[in-house]
Order: sequence, then structure tokens, then C-alpha cells
Amino acid sequence: MASAVFGRTQVSEVGIFRHMAHLAWFGQLIPLAGISLLCATAAFGQATTNRYSFQEYLLVPLRVHLLSAKETPAIQTTLAESDVTRILGKLNSIWSQAGLHFYVESLVREEANQPETYGQPAGPDDRSVLLGLRPSASLATNLFHVYYLKKLVMNGICFSEAIFVKDTASLRPVEGGLDEPIPRVTSHELGHALGLSHRQNTTNLMASGTTGFWLNDEEIKQARLVARKLHCIESAPELLKRADLLFRAKKMQEAAALYSGLATLPLRVKEVDLAKQRADRAIRFGPKSNMTGARQ
Ligand SMILES: [Zn+2]
Repeated sequence: MASAVFGRTQVSEVGIFRHMAHLAWFGQLIPLAGISLLCATAAFGQATTNRYSFQEYLLVPLRVHLLSAKETPAIQTTLAESDVTRILGKLNSIWSQAGLHFYVESLVREEANQPETYGQPAGPDDRSVLLGLRPSASLATNLFHVYYLKKLVMNGICFSEAIFVKDTASLRPVEGGLDEPIPRVTSHELGHALGLSHRQNTTNLMASGTTGFWLNDEEIKQARLVARKLHCIESAPELLKRADLLFRAKKMQEAAALYSGLATLPLRVKEVDLAKQRADRAIRFGPKSNMTGARQ
């Protein structure tokens, strides 16, 4: 898996929800309700033992792009919404080691831009080809992007602008490793995005090409240090506060995305229970509000 350190400068202070308004116009925007309320799947036991409190958890916004290209099988992903739910659950189990929790700001199924340029699966040197596949309407610089497509030379790659992961990823199994390649590859690339380099101990998340998922204390410290510097990453209490503001302003779709992210935190605390209840309510009252919001 190729590495490139995530450019901190790519992340601006622009509010996430500003882009949500644009997203409401996408014909292919997939409702968040189904994705986020499912509890995170515990992919393994040990790493879900929590050493972080609600106050310490850092929430990371993720825009997931499922690329389509009917005439280009090398692009057209066959992942569905349910796959994204499962991937995210396992990914969050891995990153719970560091007290980081990714939430789906939006899930977009979209037609790749210039699919005719993708004759052969891209490799590490094809930065411009891969970045050129991104539809302009869903670009944003204030969150993490993961694009799923069918074929790449490698399993995944992290650029400063976006991560690309192939849905046919395969890995070398190691003892105690993750049971599925895609969440592991996505987690590995997000590790690069958070400033981590390769460490070739096969059971580690940052080892190349294995199913390992462990992070050592130094990696945890570094990833949290980088995360704290990114303005788009908020602590759980900060995110809850923002979700409440959106909820009171009847911006239900945006509120639901944030509450749903909090609702899948692997913690048994009252704030998470509250987030679950409010996510339910925001989703239930969401469609009407979304339409209103989109037409303003
Ligand atoms: Zn790598």
C-alpha cells in the first residue's frame, strides 16, 4: 500500500454542514439513516477494551464515495451501503485503540469523472489519473475522503486530497489479524492520512499487505497528535454540542449524521444513549427537513 502523508493544509475550517447543503442536491446521495445506527461491529475483542472516555474520544468526518462507471469495469465498485456499514464498524474497532472514531458525514454513489482515462488499473505513479476520477460536485477540503473502486495496482493509496481503496483488495493473513481486507486497507490508509509511516511488523496496522491491525503507543500518540491539529476533527463533547445546535435548528439530516457517529461509539455512557435517541428522532423527522433545507 502506497503512502503519502496527508497534507494538513488541505483541511480548512469551513464547516462540514455547509457542504451537506450541497450534498442534499445529489441525486445519488444515499440516506444516512441505514448506515449509522447500526452498532459498530467488534471485529476483535482486545482492542475494543476502552482506555478512552467520552471526553477523550476524537470524532473524524468521513465522506465515502462509491464510484460508478458502467462502461469501465475497472472503476465500477460493487460495494453497497450495507458493505460500508460493515467496513466502518470494523474500521472503528481498529481505531478505538487510539480513541479515534470515524463517522460518515455522507455516503455518495456517483459517476466517476472522465472514466475513459482509466484504461488500466492505476498505480502509485498515477496520482493525476486517480484524482481526476473524482466528481467535482462532491469535493471538499474539510474532511477525509475515501473512494472505492474496482481495480488498482495496489490495495489502496493515500494522497493528501483523498484515499482510494479497491474493493477487490487482498491481504496476507497473519495470526489474529482482521477477517476482511477492505476495512483493514481503509484503516491502514487512514493511518497514513494521520501521519503514520509503515512499520513492518506483520501484526501491525501499518505493516504492508497483511491483515494485522495493532498500533503501538507511539503510533497512537502520533495519530492523536495529528488529529487534534485538524480543525475538522472534534472531541465527542464538541460534536454532541454541535449536533444539538443543528437539531434545535431543525437541520435534521446534518444532526442525524453527527448523532449517528456518536451513537456508535463503543462506550456505555449516557451521552451515547442520548445520541442514539436523538439520531432516531432526527432520522424520523429528517426527510421533510432535508427537503426544506435543500430548497433554501
Ligand atoms: Zn501503506
